[in-house]
Amino acid sequence: MHLGNVYAALKSWLSVRRRGGRWILRIEDIDTGRSRREFAEQIEDDLLWLGLTWDEGGLADLGGHGPYSQSRRGEFYARALDRLRSMGLTYACTCTRSDIMASSAPHQSDGRVIYSGRCRPPSMPCVVPEPEGRHAVRLYVPDRDIVFTDRNFGPQSYNLARDCGDFVLRRADGSWAYQLAVVVDDALMGVTEVVRGCDLLLSAAQQIYLFGLLGYEAPVYAHVPLLLNEAGLRLAKRDAAMAMGALRAEKTPAEVAAMVLDDRELEEYMAFRDASVR
Ligand SMILES: [Zn+2]
Repeated sequence: MHLGNVYAALKSWLSVRRRGGRWILRIEDIDTGRSRREFAEQIEDDLLWLGLTWDEGGLADLGGHGPYSQSRRGEFYARALDRLRSMGLTYACTCTRSDIMASSAPHQSDGRVIYSGRCRPPSMPCVVPEPEGRHAVRLYVPDRDIVFTDRNFGPQSYNLARDCGDFVLRRADGSWAYQLAVVVDDALMGVTEVVRGCDLLLSAAQQIYLFGLLGYEAPVYAHVPLLLNEAGLRLAKRDAAMAMGALRAEKTPAEVAAMVLDDRELEEYMAFRDASVR
């Protein structure tokens, strides 16, 4: 973790503690190439050092909505995909990366590529049998605005056809896409509030669309600003001084919290933390 993750975690934990809710620690390890058990162990250790205790989830699978590791939840994602498939809203995409780059609309400022719809059947919804070979599965998105109110950023409106295009639910290698996994998990785990960085505002629109298709109520979103480093760039792994390892070596938990919280939030954090320790 770095200070940016800590910021979102603190804001989420405080909001839950204020409302008397339950804080869930979900292990988002669907990217099996990049996920390792020791990374999750380190995150748990960092959260506990900060005094951010969770009520459900974690590597110990605490609570009744498990398993809490996405790598063990494939059957739930498969069931949701089957539902979308039977509604005629998905199709197989056999494009290679270079097909997609060559046929797509100009890249967005965040590096996102908008899929051209090259493999989409001529009219949707449409139930088409998927080919045997290697292919991704995409979700058709309509030319319609998704509007929602973010608790911090206020009213939001995205047109998925224009802003992201038909997006992948299952990759060609069989792995699950983040958008499908988090929607299914949030729904089945009874998540009512999501706090995370504002780089995921467009994802919220994609997810709200998916919640609706699957017949679930979407949670409330409270996106937080991204922290910037001294060069004005988004805080990332390269900012070694803002990584938890470096922060833990130099500061107390309250000093780390004070870097991102205002005085009132800091006081609440200390009070809730001390109450949960006792
Ligand atoms: Zn395609």
